[in-house]
Formats: sequence, C-alpha cells, structure tokens
Amino acid sequence: MSALIHSSDDELVFLDEPDTSDASLRGKLSPTWRIMIVDDDPDVHSATTFALGSLEIQHRFLSFLHAYSAAEAREILQYESDIAIILLDVVMEQEDAGLQLVSHIRKTLDLSDVRIILRTGQPGYAPEIDAIRDYDINDYKTKSELTRTKLYTAVTSAIRSYEQICAISASQRGLELIINASTELMALQGLQNFASGALVQIISLLGGSTEGFVCSQQTISNLSEVSYSVDAVRTENNMADFRILATTADFCAWTDCNFNEVADQTIQDVVKKSLQKKRHIYQSDSTVLYFSNVAQRELAIYLNTNLNLSELDKRLLEVFCSNVAVGLDNVELTSRLHNYAFYDPLTGLANRLKLLQDLDLTLLSPLKQCNTFSLIDIDHFAETNDALGHHFGDLLLCSVARRLVSYFGENCQVARVGSDTFALLGNNKSVCPEEILALFIPPFKIEHQDVQLSATIGLVKLSDYEGDGSEALKDTNIALKRAKTYQRSGFAYFTRDMGVAIRERVRMMHALRSAFEKEYLFLVFQPQVDMRSGRAVGAEALLRWKTEDGKFIPPDQFIPIAEYSGLIINIGEWVLRSACHELVHLRSLGHTNFQMAINVSQAQFSHPLFMQTLHRALHDTQAPPEYIELEITESMAMKDPDLLVKTLYQIKSLGIHVSIDDFGTGFSSLSHLQKLNVDKLKIDRAFINEISDGSGDAGIAKMVVQLGQSLDMTIIAEGVETVMQAETLLSFGCHLAQGYLYAKPMTPENLHTWLADQRALVA
Ligand code: C2E
Ligand code: CA
Ligand code: CA
Repeated sequence: MSALIHSSDDELVFLDEPDTSDASLRGKLSPTWRIMIVDDDPDVHSATTFALGSLEIQHRFLSFLHAYSAAEAREILQYESDIAIILLDVVMEQEDAGLQLVSHIRKTLDLSDVRIILRTGQPGYAPEIDAIRDYDINDYKTKSELTRTKLYTAVTSAIRSYEQICAISASQRGLELIINASTELMALQGLQNFASGALVQIISLLGGSTEGFVCSQQTISNLSEVSYSVDAVRTENNMADFRILATTADFCAWTDCNFNEVADQTIQDVVKKSLQKKRHIYQSDSTVLYFSNVAQRELAIYLNTNLNLSELDKRLLEVFCSNVAVGLDNVELTSRLHNYAFYDPLTGLANRLKLLQDLDLTLLSPLKQCNTFSLIDIDHFAETNDALGHHFGDLLLCSVARRLVSYFGENCQVARVGSDTFALLGNNKSVCPEEILALFIPPFKIEHQDVQLSATIGLVKLSDYEGDGSEALKDTNIALKRAKTYQRSGFAYFTRDMGVAIRERVRMMHALRSAFEKEYLFLVFQPQVDMRSGRAVGAEALLRWKTEDGKFIPPDQFIPIAEYSGLIINIGEWVLRSACHELVHLRSLGHTNFQMAINVSQAQFSHPLFMQTLHRALHDTQAPPEYIELEITESMAMKDPDLLVKTLYQIKSLGIHVSIDDFGTGFSSLSHLQKLNVDKLKIDRAFINEISDGSGDAGIAKMVVQLGQSLDMTIIAEGVETVMQAETLLSFGCHLAQGYLYAKPMTPENLHTWLADQRALVA
C-alpha cells in the first residue's frame, strides 16, 4: 500500500515552482521496510540483521538502521523518516534509557506511526503495563525469548499494523489536504481562474511533478438541449466548443487554444474518450480526470503521467474530484449572479451598473477625447405598452436592442438603462443624433406588424467633461429631458448651464422637503380692504419659507419647485388646513365677516383626491365654506376646460368661492369666463403698476374692471401701492384692493393687532 499524503504547510504550490517536498497522493515510499535497531550490544545488531536479513513482507525487503545508545538513536531520528519498526533495548546508558527514548519518540518527536518492540536481557526490567499502553509499545520480549521465528512473527505483525496506521493517517492527512485545496478552489471566481486553481491543486496533491492542462466547454447547452445531448455521441463538431483554459509550463503553447487544434492526436483521443464516457481514464502514460456540474458544463483535466495510484489514493482523488465538481457549480452560480448584476435579462444588453463601469473607464482613458455618451428614449413607449400589452412591449424593446447592436455594436457599447431608455457609448462620429435618429426611420416588425417608433436623445461629449460616469449619466438625462420638453423626436447636447440650473433645482427640492418636514414653512396673511371705508374684508394666505440660517426664500422661487416635484400636494393641503384654522381663529376673535383667500396650484387642483382633501379640511377645522375663497390662476383656467368646469362646480356646490388670480395675463375669452362661473377677478399687479401717475396707461385695468362688472363679478386690484392708484381704481368702480398701501403680508399675531387697530379707527 503506497498511500502517503504529505501534508505540507504550503498547500498552494504554484505551478512553476518546483515542489521539493515529497507531497504526494502517489506516495514516494522507500522500497524497503526500515527497521531501526537500538541496542548497546553489537552482537544483538548482527544477530538481528542475520535473523531478518532475507525476510520479505508484502513484497518488500527490510533495511536496517543501527544505533548503539539511546543518544545515538535520538540523533538518527532527527533526520530519518519512514521507519517502520524500532527494536529497542530497554537497558542501555541508564536502566531506563530505552523507556525514556520511547517517551521522546512518542511525545517530543510526536511520531505515532512507528511500531516499537522492546527487548531486554534481564526479565526483571520489564516496564510497567501502564508504560506499554501509554507509549503504544507493540511488543515486549526478553532477548532469550526472541528466537528467529518469534522475532519474525513479531516483526511481521508490527509491519502490518504499521502499514494500517500509515494508511489511516494518510487518508486523514489526505482529506485535510483535500479540504484545504477545496476551500482554495471555492474562493475562485470565473471559469478560467477556477480551471487554473483546480490544476494547481490537483498537481500539488499528486506531488508536483506532473504536467497537464484543463479543457472545458465555452457555452453550456440550455436545459431543453441537455436531455437530448446526454446520450449523443460527442462529435468533432461539439468538441469545437472545448477550449484549453489552463496549462502547466510544458503545455503552455496550447493556452487558450481550441481543443480541436491540439497538435497531439493521442492526447486528443484520450481526452475525447473521457468526455465521451464521462469518467476518469487512467492509462499507463497519462490520466484524464472528468468533471461535470449541474449546469452540464463539462471539464477534463489531462495529466501526462501514470499516477499508479493505490486504491486509497484513488478514493481520495474521487473525493477531491467531487469537490471540484461542486466548485464548478459554484463558478457557474457566481457567473450567473455576475450576469444578473451586470446584464439586462430581457435584451441581454449591459445594464446601468455595467454601463457606469465602462463610462468610468472611458472617462479615465484617452478615449475620452473622442467619445460621446448618449441616452435614447423611445417616445410614447408607456402608451404602446399599455395599449398592446407587456409582451408586445418586450418584443419591441428586444427589437430596438437588436437594431442598436447590429448597427453600433462593433464600435460602441450598447446598454439598457431604464425601461425604455437605451444608452450608447462610442466615438463622436458614430454616436451622433443623425446616425441614431436614422435608425428609427424604418419601422420595427413585431409579430407581423410594422411598428413605427420615434426616439428622443440626450448626448454629452466626453472630451470636455469633468465628472465621473454617474454624473455623465445624470447630465445626459438632463439633456434628454430638455430635448423632450422642446421637441419630440429631437435631441439635445448637454451644456454646462443646463447642469447648473438643474442641480440648483434639485438641491432646492431636497431643502424644501426637509424644511416642510421640520416645519420651517409658515403662513402670512395680507389683508384685503374696501378702499371706500378702509375696512378689511378678508386676507390672502401666503406661504413663507425661512431657512435654518434665517434667510427668506421667496415663494416665486420655491412654489414652482414644489409644483415640479409634486411636493405641492402635501404642502398645499397643509396650507389649506392652516388657513382654515386661522379663519376659525379670526372668527373666534370677532372677525366674523371676513374672507380667507387661499392659493391653489394646478397640480393640486387636478389631483384626483383634491375634493376629498377639501372636504376633510372643512370637516376637521369646522371652517365655514362661504368665507373661503380659492384662487386659481388664469393660465389654469385655460387648461383642460372640461375638468376645470367639473371641479369648479363641485367646489362651488360646497359653498366655497373661487377667484381668478393674475387676471389679464392670460387669454380667457369672455364666453369662457362666463362658463366658469367664478365669483371674482383679481387684476394682476402688473396692470396696477401701469397706473403710476395720471398720465400712465390705465387702459387694461379699466377694461378688466368693466369686464368684471358686465359679468357681474367682484373685482379686486392686487399690488396697490399708492393713493393715486387707489383713487384711479375707485374712479373705475373697483372697490376692493390688496396692496402695500394698506398692509403687507403679516403673521397671524400682527394681523390680529392690525385688525384690532383698524376696528378702533373705523369706530
Ligand atoms: P400671488 O398669489 O399673486 O400673491 C400676491 C403676491 O403679491 C404676494 O407675493 C404678495 O406679497 C405680493 N404683493 C401684495 N401686495 C403687493 C404690493 O403692493 N406690492 C408688491 N410689490 N407686491 C405685493 P408673495 O407672497 O411673494 O407670493 C408670490 C406668489 O407665490 C403668489 O403670487 C402665489 O402665486 C405664490 N404663492 C404664495 N403662497 C402660495 C401658496 O400657499 N400656494 C400656492 N399655490 N402659491 C402660493
Ligand atoms: Ca394669489
Ligand atoms: Ca396675483
């Protein structure tokens, strides 16, 4: 039995490093059984060698090492290994020199395999039973007892047990090695790495002097093909798919070769045979190990030596091989995960993550100078998807992906970064609006239908771009949005100005959201007065934002952002409720004939839950609807007239009043206004401004007042700053005003004082 697996500390032996240890599954056993005789009597030495000299056990002869004292024995044991038996005299330098040597062998040198037969001349010096057991002593004999035959039997049985012990330790050490080697293998990612790792580990297990290579399939058949191909004979054709993935030095010329190109016919034949029969092949001059995994990927390791393996070695090798197969599964799994992480499963194109990596690399390379990055967005894809179904939508996307790849694929990176958004990265000449838009001219054929698509594109030239990949992606998106707002089927290149404006807007949006959450928004109220008496008839609620460092941000700046980001829905609801609260509060202070005007944005107004929000606010605050007035702008009044009429009707049936803000800036026709059935017109500040002195043009203001009167609507002038403006408006018949001449917007506390003062004055 030749199993001797060397357990070296350096399990990872690199291929080109000659392995000087005797690490080996194949076991480099000494050709003889080595017997060490330790005895201070030279006659015992010669008698023993004479008695055992010609003995052959398990086809091996014996060889002898001689020590004439315990000290000498210790010295020899320092550098000799593979000793099967020590025939040991008990009494030498000291009476217990032999026993002490045993203790040294077992405890200090930690040699547990070697068998020990104690011999003594004097029967009275027999060691204690305990010592025999503790030190694993095989036999104890007086010298007189040891006749030739008895010695022969003792040595034979000791060698048998030595052999068994060796086998057990070998398999133990072998398993340890295998576990270590397998752990190394599990850590490897990618088929190529795994193949090199498996070759290294197997050769190191086998002792390091073997040369060979690994070959495996490039692609694996999918499941439906598997059942068919299992019984199929491996033909030249499907061998073409096999490549040499890793080699040792001797075979390095074949690295990366297609297996069919391997020059050596004998090697080709034996490897093919292994793959065909799906098993290991042990031949006199070579070995092929066969592996396959769950995904049906097959892998063969060719080794150019006859391993001459013992049964134990073969079994250990099997254990290792099954670990390799598990490792191969692992590789498959990690590469699948890798694919999921970096590729879009629908189109097979790179995904956003992969694209970002490539963009980053390009931005760091000289390619940056001549490359353009572009986002391509399919127009109206969502509608198509809804109308014709997701399956159709998927086919459409795949078809766009195919067209992009077939046209740009050679020189450009094509990716899918959003549901209907593709990306292109390549040189300026290819990645340009003309080339891309031209691709969308011919219709796409989906399920025998011609589908005409158009696309909008945003581009960024990388040459003068400073940011990283993810910034480039964002900026290209900005250009894309710009292209969408200005023209369909169009394009826009990113410019620095676009970026600055958008980034500021985004920053502000985040700041506004957190300001709202932290209650940094509050309402002020600007009184509306009857110019004839100076009496307050109501107030307009106006929103304010005071930042943490005490700065006021004007609503003209943040309201559009709140609208654009959708924050206006929540903010607007809060305004509505707070204003209602204040109205109720004012009424409790005795201001019972007082209107509260509240601004409502387009987004709020057209929100499906707007009416519900309004109901809830009234219900929760108990505010009387007839003292509430919603201000909608004239531009809103122009959009979606059907919805507007419907909503206005619902609002008015609650008893709430409606006024048209900034009147005069839009283009409402008389008949349209009539249909809307609103209560009040608010003349825009710009027209009041024009009444700066007597000579100024008060034309529009006058016209609006007359229009209102003819429609039987209340008119209010906004932004009245001078007495002259007030007098002019009064002369037109407009009695109501809101402006700095009377009061600026103020906090509730200030409003209460202001109203109290007013009352005192009027009274
Ligand atoms: P608006 O609805 O036209 O509000 C009137 C604006 O004119 C207010 O500016 C007010 O302070 C200002 N104003 C009033 N009298 C005078 C005057 O005599 N001279 C001058 N120079 N200005 C005067 P503010 O508060 O800055 O609001 C600006 C705009 O922000 C509002 O215009 C409105 O469109 C919007 N806004 C304010 N609060 C809200 C709100 O709660 N919701 C919505 N949706 N929009 C709001
Ligand atoms: Ca207003
Ligand atoms: Ca206004």
